[in-house]
This record gives sequence, C-alpha cells and structure tokens, in this order.
Amino acid sequence: MPQYDYDLFVIGAGSGGTRAARVSAAHGARVAVAEEYRVGGTCVIRGCVPKKLLVYGAHFAEDLKDAQRFGWKVPNDCEFDWKCLQENVLSEVDRINGAYTSTLQSHGVEIINERAVVTGPNSVKLASGREITAERILIAVGARPAVPSCPGHEHGITSNEVFHLDAIPKRVLIAGAGYIANEFAGVLHQFGAHVTLINRTDVILRGYDESIRDRLLQISLMKGIEFRFNAEFRGIEKQADGSLKVEMTGHDPLEVDCVIFATGRVPNTDGLGLETAGVELDDKGAIPVDADNQSSCPSIYAVGDVTNRVQLTPVAIREGQAFADTVYGGKPTRVDYNCIPAAVFSHPPMAGVGLTEAEAKNKLGTVKVYLSDFRAMKNVLANRNERCLYKMVCEAETDRVVGLHMIGPDAPEILQAAAVAVKAGLTKQAFDETVALHPSMAEELVLMR
Ligand code: NDP
Repeated sequence: MPQYDYDLFVIGAGSGGTRAARVSAAHGARVAVAEEYRVGGTCVIRGCVPKKLLVYGAHFAEDLKDAQRFGWKVPNDCEFDWKCLQENVLSEVDRINGAYTSTLQSHGVEIINERAVVTGPNSVKLASGREITAERILIAVGARPAVPSCPGHEHGITSNEVFHLDAIPKRVLIAGAGYIANEFAGVLHQFGAHVTLINRTDVILRGYDESIRDRLLQISLMKGIEFRFNAEFRGIEKQADGSLKVEMTGHDPLEVDCVIFATGRVPNTDGLGLETAGVELDDKGAIPVDADNQSSCPSIYAVGDVTNRVQLTPVAIREGQAFADTVYGGKPTRVDYNCIPAAVFSHPPMAGVGLTEAEAKNKLGTVKVYLSDFRAMKNVLANRNERCLYKMVCEAETDRVVGLHMIGPDAPEILQAAAVAVKAGLTKQAFDETVALHPSMAEELVLMR
C-alpha cells in the first residue's frame, strides 16, 4: 500500500501547474491537480490568449483605414461589433480550456475542480472537506491583480473583467503604466474608447529600454491616448448618472465610465494554509524557492507567478517542466533565466531581450549602441506617421550583442527569432555577415551601422 494518496498534488492548473502535472504523470507519478476556477489559468482564461485575440481585433481599426491607401473601397460606415468579437474570443478560450483538460486526463492526471488548501507538509484539504495526502505538493496558484485600497476602489475593475464587459465604455481610466495598462490602452482606444492612463511615477513600462518606451509614449500620445503622471489615486466616487469621478493627486479630477486597475499583480497565497507546513513567504506574499523550485518546506515546491521570479507564461511552463524532469524524470534540470525575451502587445507592439542600454552601461562600462529609426514600408504607403525603432546594445570590447530592443509592427515575431542569436552570444559582426532579407522590417537588424 502506498503511504500517500498521491505522489504529487498540484494546486492550480495554470500554465506551470498543468505542465508539471502532465509531465510528472508521464514520468510515472500518481498525480492530482486541484483547480478552483478553470483549467488553463490566467494565461488561457483571462490573460495572454484572450488579450492577444483582442489585440488582433483592435488592429483592424487601423488596417481598415490603411486599406484605402492600398486601393480597397472600405465603406465609411464600417462598424465594430464588440459582442461578436467577445463571443468568438470566449469560445476560443473554452476550446483551449477543453484541450488543456483533455491533455491532463489523457496523461492520467486526476482533475479536482475544487479549491484546495495546505494543511501540513504532506496534506491538503478540499473545499468539500475531503482530506488528501501526497508525498509532494506543488503550489502553482499564480497571482491576481493588485487593487489599491483607495475609497471607492470597488467601482473599478481589473483586466479579468475587461473580457466580460457588456459594451466598450466611452471614457476609460487605466491606473498603472505597465504591461497590462499599455496593452489595454491600445486595444480600448482602437475600439473607440477615450483612454487616459494615470501612473504614480512618470515612467511607463519600467524595465524596458528607455528609447523604446519613449517611442511608445510618443506614438500613443499621437494616437490620442492621454497620460497623467505622478498621480496617486485618492478615490473614486460613483455619480448619479453612473459615471465615475476619480480624484488623484497633482491633477484635476477626471470623469470616466470605467476604471481599470493595472497596478501589478500579487501572489495568490492568502488563506492557502502554507503556514501549517512552515512554508516561508516574502513580504509580497510570494513563495521563495531554490533553483529546484523547492520551498522552505522540503516536500512543498512552487512554480510560476506565485514565486514572483519572472511573471511570464513560458517561464512558468519551463519551471513546471524542470520540476517534473528533476523530481520524477531522473533528469535534473534548472531554468536558465538569462536572456528571456519579452514583449508588450501595445499598438504598436514592442519587444526586448537582454540588457537595456542603461543596464549594459551599469554592468559593462563601455558599450556600443546601434539604432535604426525607420518608417515601415507599409506605413509609408498608408501615410501613417509611425516610426519603428530598433536598438542593438553591444559589449564594446567583444562586439557581443548583449541587448536587442524594438518597437514597430511585428516586433515580438521578429525579436523571438533574433533572441536566439542574442542568447547564443553572437556578435554584431555575425549579424552584419548575414545577408538582409529584402524588403522586410527585420532586415534592419543586419544593416545597423
Ligand atoms: P507591471 O508591473 O507591468 O506594471 C505595474 C504598473 O503599476 C507600473 O506602472 C507601476 O508603477 C504601477 N504600480 C505598481 N504598484 C502600484 C501601486 N501600489 N499604486 C499605484 N501604481 C502602482 O504590472 P501589470 O499589472 O501591468 O502586469 C503584471 C505582470 O504580468 C507583468 O509584470 C508581466 O510580468 C505580466 N504580464 C505580461 C504580459 C506580456 O508578456 N505581454 C502582459 C500582461 C502581463 P511604476 O512602475 O511607475 O512604479
């Protein structure tokens, strides 16, 4: 008789938990996964996937205008039907949710559609009261949007609710100027909303290269998105007509129809019972883990956003895979966090890998920076005054490319391929020796002088 009900009990069936559960089961472990909401987690259900589909949908606003310069007769009364897009996006989410569920099932993972909380180093309790034991527990519960505690905050929504809006609000205020704020600003603006971003500092997309984020700011302003900086939320008041009056420091109050909080995300560890197993948490409530994803309790591991390392789906997936291969596959594996490419699906999108210019100067002293500031061919014919900017940062002594940053159409698609070269430690010369693929935007990468 086995000593425990399962070898592995996973809490949370998002990107990291699902990968860990599936691969551990494939390696022969007896695995159950508890999910209190829907299999797929943030990325599939209310994050990357539906967001990217909205980004595609939003782009048609400009494409339809540009099409006329390319000879297409586009009726002036072209209308956007939010309900149609919403329905299609949500049914795509259902499809992927189904695919994730059946993959787990086909690998023999038991899915328990209930909230589970830890009751000790080897035990959990389900919402229904059932107690379960497992040799190991993997916490993969992710994170949730942080909502400021100002008066009236309950009148605001988060990115979770945007996908379920009945209609596109006319005036939207987005709090924050990070990934989610800039992505939804672009989407809602293209759908016809008047968007104002407010941020507590005057920096958008902290962590990205300064020239690239400045370019996004300039283009966003040109499109009509407003920004208010150094503004702290004071409160939200609901008016008799249903509109919201937002008070903030340093600026006049603003009347809008919808407030979206995009002020970071907090690990989902509240009430999870981790203290019963002696799992230490950091001051943000995240679970610190070692390079093998093990927490301060040896039988409890954690992967993904709940560890607050790098909050990106592909990283959570790698962590889940590394956990499973190390613990159940006899193949010790650690995630390499160096040179992780990332993108912001703003309008236009931006992407980067490696060190920003400022980081490289700090770390390496002297660096060489190459820029390409150009208008994409399509934008020229479309009369769209929107310039792309590519930046390559190289170590002065070795010529090695240590950072690549870009903004412009398809930047994430182009950067993913170029990230292979940066990760491989190639030099600027290696880029130069590669013949340009003409005409393309990506050819700028090998033509930088
Ligand atoms: P970000 O960390 O990107 O941005 C948070 C923003 O909120 C910043 O502008 C920050 O200001 C501001 N902020 C933070 N705390 C407070 C506070 N207490 N009061 C007021 N403002 C505050 O978070 P997001 O919510 O946009 O996204 C969360 C994470 O999800 C990202 O870090 C990213 O890892 C991931 N994500 C990735 C995406 C992608 O890969 N494309 C898309 C969406 C999310 P300041 O910087 O000025 O201090």
